[in-house]
Amino acid sequence: MIDMPDFLKHELKKTFGLQLKSAKSKCTKCNQRGIIDDNSDHTYYDCPECTGRMNAVRQYIYSNIRDSQFYKLRRDEMAEYLTDKSWKTYYVLYNNIIKVLENKNLIIGKMTSDTYGISQAAVILLKKLIYSNQDSFMLKFDNLIEGFFAFRDNVKDVVNRKEELLQFYMKVPFLLIDNFADEFINPKGDKDNFITQKLMQFLQARQNNGVKTIIALAISQQSFTCKYDTTFLSFFDENYLTYILDTKPKKIKQDAELGLIQNIFLSKTTSTSKKFVLKKN
Ligand SMILES: [Zn+2]
Repeated sequence: MIDMPDFLKHELKKTFGLQLKSAKSKCTKCNQRGIIDDNSDHTYYDCPECTGRMNAVRQYIYSNIRDSQFYKLRRDEMAEYLTDKSWKTYYVLYNNIIKVLENKNLIIGKMTSDTYGISQAAVILLKKLIYSNQDSFMLKFDNLIEGFFAFRDNVKDVVNRKEELLQFYMKVPFLLIDNFADEFINPKGDKDNFITQKLMQFLQARQNNGVKTIIALAISQQSFTCKYDTTFLSFFDENYLTYILDTKPKKIKQDAELGLIQNIFLSKTTSTSKKFVLKKN
């Protein structure tokens, strides 16, 4: 694993611990013990409902993916949201994501401002990278911007931490910047805008470090190209591939969501369950 600041590692470990504790405390299958006792051959198993389920998503937590996105939507379920044409594009992209990222960075764009599920589409790609043992991290655009203003904090410790985080974000092999919006960016032509400059430096640094970035846009492709300066856009043209996804109308989205919720409750857990033997006294 890449050098993650110790305090961040500690924080994510704590998050995992808390979620595991909460999963165990609600579990009815193992009597809240986290393990299942097989009396017939004196072995114990990780309880698949709580511990097994959490172990299956452990790496997602360490990559900063939020718990609402662990189980929600798998690749094939995107087919219900995306238009047929977008689904075909996405399917190819998903299957070739590592190859695609060998050469270029990626922008997942929205066809119109009504297009939804872009963040989810990007997270599914990140999950595949994680699954393929690639060091990956997810970051909200707001949190990145926050890091640019580290110097404003009066507490030295906070400033140091923010700077350490920014260094980590610059180096992590695969970074997903989610919810890439335009509210922080000044109108086109304002090249001296602080955030735009910082953002450009940040992306350029990642480029120089030979690491790859996935950007999930929270705005439509058109609004993206309207808002940003030509220097900025030509940087993207040169170094990024853009995939514009289009989704079906919202009514279908609601149906798909309902179907999905039912699926989650009905489907069996796909968690990994490790078998281990303990000596009984
Ligand atoms: Zn359990």
